[in-house]
Amino acid sequence: KVNLTSINKYITCSLCGGYYIDATAIVACQHTFCRSCILLYLQTSSYCPVCDRQVIVSSEICTSLSDTTLQMLVYKLLPNIM
Ligand SMILES: [Zn+2]
Ligand SMILES: [Zn+2]
Repeated sequence: KVNLTSINKYITCSLCGGYYIDATAIVACQHTFCRSCILLYLQTSSYCPVCDRQVIVSSEICTSLSDTTLQMLVYKLLPNIM
């Protein structure tokens, strides 16, 4: 059985505090957020909210990580949130 508490920090968006929805990563630093969260954040900032690395253009954001292991993990562990 997986310990959700220990894994929570890896699948939780630091912007909204919830689990990743349509997980999207900044290419430069690989920090991951909900797609809607990071796109909204970057309308008013040019820096990664976690490590302050500069994000020059929005194309540096991965379009989507929906098919990645990370997002699959969220869906698998937390079927009730969807
Ligand atoms: Zn979020
Ligand atoms: Zn970062």
